[in-house]
Amino acid sequence: MTTASEVIAGAPKNLDLVASAMRPLDIPRASRIFVNRNLRLDKIEMVGFDMDYTLALYNQPRIEELSMRATLHKLVTAKGYPEAILGLTYDPMLAVRGLVVDRINGNIFKPDRYGFPGRARHGLANIDRERAGELYQRERTRLSNRRYAWIDSLFALPEAVLYACLVDYFDHHELPSKPDYGTMWEHIRECIDLAHRDGSIKTIVGDDLAGFVERDDALAETLHKFRSSGKRLFLLTNSAWDYTSRVMSYLLDRTPARGGEPSPYPSWRHYFDVIVVSAGKPEFFTEEHPFVALDASGEPLAKTSTGPFQRGRIYQGGNIKDFQERARASGDRVLFVGDHIYGDMLRSRKSSNWRTAMVLQELEHEVTTHDRIRPDLSRLDRLDAELIHLDGELNERQVALRSLQKIEDHPSTDEPVSAAKRTIKEAIEKLRRDLRSAAAQHRSLESTIDDAFNPYWGPIFREGYEVSKFGEQVEAYACVYTSRVSNFRFYSPMQYFRGPRDRMPHER
Ligand code: IMP
Ligand code: MG
Repeated sequence: MTTASEVIAGAPKNLDLVASAMRPLDIPRASRIFVNRNLRLDKIEMVGFDMDYTLALYNQPRIEELSMRATLHKLVTAKGYPEAILGLTYDPMLAVRGLVVDRINGNIFKPDRYGFPGRARHGLANIDRERAGELYQRERTRLSNRRYAWIDSLFALPEAVLYACLVDYFDHHELPSKPDYGTMWEHIRECIDLAHRDGSIKTIVGDDLAGFVERDDALAETLHKFRSSGKRLFLLTNSAWDYTSRVMSYLLDRTPARGGEPSPYPSWRHYFDVIVVSAGKPEFFTEEHPFVALDASGEPLAKTSTGPFQRGRIYQGGNIKDFQERARASGDRVLFVGDHIYGDMLRSRKSSNWRTAMVLQELEHEVTTHDRIRPDLSRLDRLDAELIHLDGELNERQVALRSLQKIEDHPSTDEPVSAAKRTIKEAIEKLRRDLRSAAAQHRSLESTIDDAFNPYWGPIFREGYEVSKFGEQVEAYACVYTSRVSNFRFYSPMQYFRGPRDRMPHER
C-alpha cells in the first residue's frame, strides 16, 4: 500500500492527474480535515474562499512583528507615547487566538468554554490562579461586555502582545502622565486599525510577498480539483482590489520565472467564477450594501451593479442576499472556507445556511505537538483516574471513621472500636499522602504538557480540564476545520465528511 508521505512526495505535478483521493486514515493527522458536523461535498455546488489567512497563509512571526512596529510608531507619533517604547522586544508566544483582554484591569486571560479564566496575566507577569479566581469567578464573566475584547483573529495577536508589553512598561516607569489601561487599549486598536488601512502594513508586505506570504504549491491543484468536479468557486475577501490581486497572483499565477508545470489557467482570476473584494464581512452577512463592479485597475464601472455576476469581473462590497440571487446559489449548497471565527464562520452560520470550513493555521503545531507528547497525555489520563480513585477511597474511609466515632460516642454499645479506628486513621493518612503526591505529579505533568504548546497559554483548544472558549466556538460554528486549504486535495470532491456521534457523558 502506498503511504501518505509517498503520495505527497510523489504527487503528480500535472494538474489533471490529481484526481485520486486518499483514505482519510492514510492522511497525516496534521493535514486532515476534522469534522464537527456532517458535510457532504457532493451536495456542494459553490465553494467560497476568504483570502487573508485562508488562501494566503502568512509568516506569522514576521507579520506580527511588522504590525507591532507599525503600531508602536503610530502610538509615538500620533498619541504622544514615549519614544522608548520603540525599543520594546516582541515575543510572539505572548498571544494566541482565544484570549480575552480585560481593559479595566490591564489583564489578559484565556477563558474555558464557560468563560472562566484559567491562565491570566497582567502585563508580562503571571497572575496566580487564586487571584484570577478572585478577579473573575466571583460573578459570571460576561465576555460580551464592552470591558472585554476578544482576540479571535490572527491579525489581532500583535494587539494582545502590545497590550501586555505596554501595560508592563507603564506599570514600571514613573512618568508625569500615563494612559489608563482602557485608554491604552483604545489607542492600540486605533493605531493598528490605521496601520492596516493607511498601507503601513500592506505596502511592506506587498513589496516582499515571498518574505511574508507562504506560497503553497498545492493550492492550485486543490482549486483545480474542485473545479474539475463541477463546483463553482468564489473569492470573498475584506482586502481591497490592489492588495488582493498582488497576493492572489503571487499564490496562483505560474510565470516562467517561477518554473513549474504550465497551468491550464491563464491567470489566478480564471480559478474563480465570482471575485468579491472589500466585502466588509461581517456586514456582508447582515447588511444590504450594494455590489459595485470594478475595472482591472480597481476603478468603479458604475455606482452599483445588478443582474447575474459576469465571470472575470471584479465586484466590491455587496451582501449575501444579492450574492445568492446573482450567483444562483442556494444557501446549503454553498461551502464557505474562512479563518475568522466571527467574520467568516459565526456570521455566515447565523445569517445563512452556508456550510463552513475553518482554516486554522495553528492546527499543524497543535496536532504535531499533541502527537509528540502522547505518552505524557496518557500518563495524565492515568493520573486523572488515580486521583478520582484515591478521592473515592478517602471518602469511604472518612465515612467509616465517622461511623466508628458514633459507636464510640454511645456507651450503650461496648464494641472494641479503638483498634479499628487506628487502622482506618492510618489508612486515611496514607491516602492523603498518596493524593498529595499524585496531585503534585499531575500539576507538574500538566505544566510540562502545556509548555509544549505555548509556555504562557498552553494549547489553544483546551483550558485545563475544559475545551477553551475558542475551541467551543470552532466546534459551534465550523462544520469542518483544517490547517490549510490545500488539505482538501487529499479528499474526494464528493467526500462525505462524517462527524463523530455526539454523546452525553452518561452515553460515553
Ligand atoms: P480577509 O481575511 O481576506 O477577509 O481580509 C482581512 C482584511 O482585513 C485584510 O486586508 C487585513 O489587512 C484587514 N484587517 C485586519 N485587521 C484589521 C483592522 O484591525 N483594521 C482594518 N483592517 C484590518
Ligand atoms: Mg481572513
